[in-house]
Amino acid sequence: MTLKPCCKKDKVFNRPHEGRSLCRDHFMESFEKTVKRTIRKNELFDSGDKIAVALSGGKDSSVVLYLLKKILGERRDIEIAALSIDEGISGYRDPTIQDAKDLCEELDVEHIIVSFQEEFGETLDEIKKSGAPLGMCTYCGVFRRYLMNREARKWGATKLAVGHNLDDEVQSAMMNYINGDVGRLRRSGAKTNNPSGGKFVPRIKPLFDCPEREVGLYAILRGFEVRFDECPNFGGSFRSRVREFINDMELESPGTKYSILRGFEKIQPLLDENKEKLDEGEVVDCEICAEPSSDGLCKACELAQKLGII
Ligand code: SF4
Repeated sequence: MTLKPCCKKDKVFNRPHEGRSLCRDHFMESFEKTVKRTIRKNELFDSGDKIAVALSGGKDSSVVLYLLKKILGERRDIEIAALSIDEGISGYRDPTIQDAKDLCEELDVEHIIVSFQEEFGETLDEIKKSGAPLGMCTYCGVFRRYLMNREARKWGATKLAVGHNLDDEVQSAMMNYINGDVGRLRRSGAKTNNPSGGKFVPRIKPLFDCPEREVGLYAILRGFEVRFDECPNFGGSFRSRVREFINDMELESPGTKYSILRGFEKIQPLLDENKEKLDEGEVVDCEICAEPSSDGLCKACELAQKLGII
């Protein structure tokens, strides 16, 4: 396919689904425009917001923090802080936590760091060594989401900005279709529709419309440290298989990811209109930690109890 160049400068990126190739400046401009459009279209921010950015130190969350500072930094009615969770995955998380610290210092942003070790008395590596029966991503995901929400709320956050990009969203939508989890499908999107209960900090996703490759290139061109090593626990999971399948489809038919996402955006309002029929259940306080749960015991306490760490 012949792509139309944006101008006479050297090209850094091809967008086959748009039939265009872009130089550095046009790529950066168009990427930032996409993020601003996502913010506007989904009304991600309100006056008086306190935004906690979930910062792993990886490319996605670093780009979110950088762009929110760039776009909202001058507004006196909006406050931004970063929140990092150190799961304790040696050789993988340590360097990204350091990158997160460096970025916060450079951008002059308050940085809160919480670790599995402090909170649960064990790192993820130690949980793995203890012969825990489930996949590490289950413990990691549940404990991380739990701490993120709790710490963001403690800081007074009105929104939790996460680095989920278009690829992540398409994978999640497909996983929810496959699992038949219509409730979760309804609650996802650029602005999370939380189940009722004031203890959940609403999540927002400024990179919702940005493909992973574009986020990576933007991070590199902005001069961020981009690490390509994957977590040692990654692979073989349901998500990684769905990711592989969608990437193959995208290669065969460019634009597949966008069409899955646009389809999901058409379905979501219909689900919202019928949410009382979806039987999503009540949100109640966990009897152990008082964090939100669906049946009196939150997922984090349930897993921690089974591991014998609480
Ligand atoms: Fe955690 Fe799994 Fe991601 Fe590793 S791959 S950081 S264990 S969720």
